[in-house]
Parts: sequence; C-alpha cells; structure tokens
Amino acid sequence: MTKIKGVISKLPNIKTTIFTTVGNLARQHNAIDLSQGFPNFEPDPELYKLTSQAMKAGHNQYAAMKGYYGLREVISEKITKLHRHTYHPEKEITITVGATQAIYTAITAFVHAGDEVIVIKPAYDCYEPAIEVNGGISIYYQLSNPDYTVNWDDFKTKITSKTKMVIINTPHNPSGRIFTKEDMLQLQEILRSTNIILLSDEVYEHIIFDDAEHQSASRFEDLAARSFVCASFGKTFHVTGWKMGYCAAPEVLMREFQKVHQFAVFCVDHPVQRALAKYLQHEEHYLALNEFYQKKRDFFLDQIKNSCFSFKPSEGTYFQLLDYSEITKDGDEDFAKRLIIDHKLASIAISSFNVENRNDHKLRFCFAKKEETLFKAAEILNKL
Ligand code: PMP
Ligand code: GLN
Repeated sequence: MTKIKGVISKLPNIKTTIFTTVGNLARQHNAIDLSQGFPNFEPDPELYKLTSQAMKAGHNQYAAMKGYYGLREVISEKITKLHRHTYHPEKEITITVGATQAIYTAITAFVHAGDEVIVIKPAYDCYEPAIEVNGGISIYYQLSNPDYTVNWDDFKTKITSKTKMVIINTPHNPSGRIFTKEDMLQLQEILRSTNIILLSDEVYEHIIFDDAEHQSASRFEDLAARSFVCASFGKTFHVTGWKMGYCAAPEVLMREFQKVHQFAVFCVDHPVQRALAKYLQHEEHYLALNEFYQKKRDFFLDQIKNSCFSFKPSEGTYFQLLDYSEITKDGDEDFAKRLIIDHKLASIAISSFNVENRNDHKLRFCFAKKEETLFKAAEILNKL
C-alpha cells in the first residue's frame, strides 16, 4: 500500500492531550473520574426544551457568520450589566465553537511567525499549540509553588519588542486562583504604553467563591481596548459537550478575528444559539453558579479535611489542587497513575502544565460532580 512520505509535522512535540490519556486510563480501570473538567450531572431541562423548540421552529440552517444576533445582543447586555463595558453586538462579539475556537482564532488572526506570546504557567493546554502552529514563540512566566500568584515586576521582564500577545486565565485552571483588581491594574499599567494584545481566558467567570468578584479584562478601560475576552457556555450551563462559547473584543481586533472565523467554521450550531439567547435572559441562570459550586467545593473539602492531603481552598473554577507531599515525594504523574490503577480514582497531574514539568506534588481534582461521587472519591483519599 502506498504510504505518503515526507510528512513534516508543524507540531512535532505535541502528544495526545492529558485529558484524553487520563480519561481513557480511568475508563479502563473503572476509576471514579475527577480528572477532565466536566459535570457528571444533567443541565437544566429548560435548555433541552428551548433547543428542541428552536429546531421545531425551523432554525436548522446556517446561522449568521458572527452568530445569531439575538444571542450577541443578550451577551452584550450581560457584559454591560456585570462589568460596565459595552461591546457592540454587531461589531464586537462572535459566537464560537467553545472558548477553544475563540482562543485559537484570536491567536491565528494576530500571531505572525517569530512573534512572542507570554504564557503564564501552569497553563491550560490549548494555548501553546495554537501559538506554535502559527509560527509564534511561547515565552513562559512560571507561577511559584505553592501560591501561584504573579509577581508583576518579574512578569514585566518577559516583555520584549517581539511580544505580540499576553495570555491570562482568571479564574485559573489548574490552580484555582483568581486575579484581584490589583493584579488587573498592574497588568494594565504594564501594557499601557505597548501595542500588545491581551487574550483573557475567562471561561470560569461565573465560578468564583467566598464573595470575590470576577475581574474581567472588560472592566479595565485600557485592557478592554486591547483584549479578546473568551467565554464558554459549556462551563456556565453544564453542557461542555455542546462546545458553545463566545469572544468579545473591540471592533479593530474583532474584524481580523472574524476574517479567520468565517473560514475556519463560518458559523456555529444555530438551534443551540437560539436556545441560549432565551436562556441567558434570566440572570439567575448564571448568577446562581457561584453558590452552587461553592457548596460542592465545601462538601468535598469537608470530607477530606482529616486526610493526609493539604490544600488551600480553590478561589474559582471547579478544580481543587491537593498537595500529597505528606504521602510521597514521587512525581505527580506516577502518583496520579497509581491512584487510578490501585485506588480507582482519577485526577490530573499538573506537572505537564508547568515549565519543564516542575513537580509541585499536587494533583487537580474536578468537583463538578454529584455529591455521591465526591463522597466516594473522598473515601478513597481518606485511606491514603
Ligand atoms: N480555557 C480553559 C482554562 C479551560 O479550562 C477550558 C475548558 N476545557 C477551555 C478554555 C475551553 O473551553 P471550551 O470547552 O468552551 O472550548
Ligand atoms: N477544560 C477541561 C479541563 O481542564 C478539559 C477540556 C478538554 O479535555 N479539552 O479539564
């Protein structure tokens, strides 16, 4: 059989994602799966109803390229209400295939070969491949263990004349830390006199605890003027499999974004957009999320408070880091693997998100799960 030769990979070092690898191992060993971030409970049935209504009403052909206008309108109103910054629904908002496509598209539209992009590590794994495939160079700023906070004076040293973009993620996956208003103000000052674009990954904007407020880049005038703010309905409405998200940015940036978007996907799922436009009109559908997930975080942490794991309660996201250094000094990948195979509990080793796979002796557990699942997971953790 003919086999094509001479394949030159654009991503020679990229392997299958840790979420796929660990998820497969968890299934193979019948382990409780707190690894990949997704809920194991159903979304609000109202969402099914609205989607099916939209299908029956005939919204089954292509939507507008930028997204269904009615949905863009509600998103614009929501951002104005929460962050006091108004994005023009026609010119400054695009509906995307999850936040992942928004992130990929923003990077592709702006990063030229040789451009530098500052990535804060540990980082969610979709940023660096998108930079690399476009010929850009990831410049790392590694957060310190155990605080995972940014020292902005150190951060500033990473900026050069080649810096095209900075990527931030708040609330932060995997650390569960959030950027404070002070963090955002410092970043704003650092970027003020530059032409650097900010890519602000805010997919966990509605999962934030202990009465803290989400500090969106859209709240800060000079940041908003240079930012792509990326969001995910998958996270907010417990439908990660629907892969629906959006991106907001000033017109001058969004115009370029849409040039790529229209040829990468053209438009996204039409009936679901119609359903989301109706569902999003009720603010309790997203404002109730903080309390909903805080209860889950508190339940999980209460169950393991006497275990050998130590932790700082997550400030946002549906992830909790647990430090296992009292149990073993082994690498986190080895420990995570043993936890799956020997104890039937899956989590994510965070070393692969760190520079040079630094071992922080921490595993990431997703608590977007039913109480009974969290209870069973805690039973396992308490025995170690
Ligand atoms: N950014 C972060 C930090 C995430 O955790 C995720 C979730 N997988 C995404 C982006 C991607 O979101 P989506 O599933 O909407 O593409
Ligand atoms: N965001 C999810 C997580 O961090 C993973 C999504 C994916 O597998 N790509 O667990």
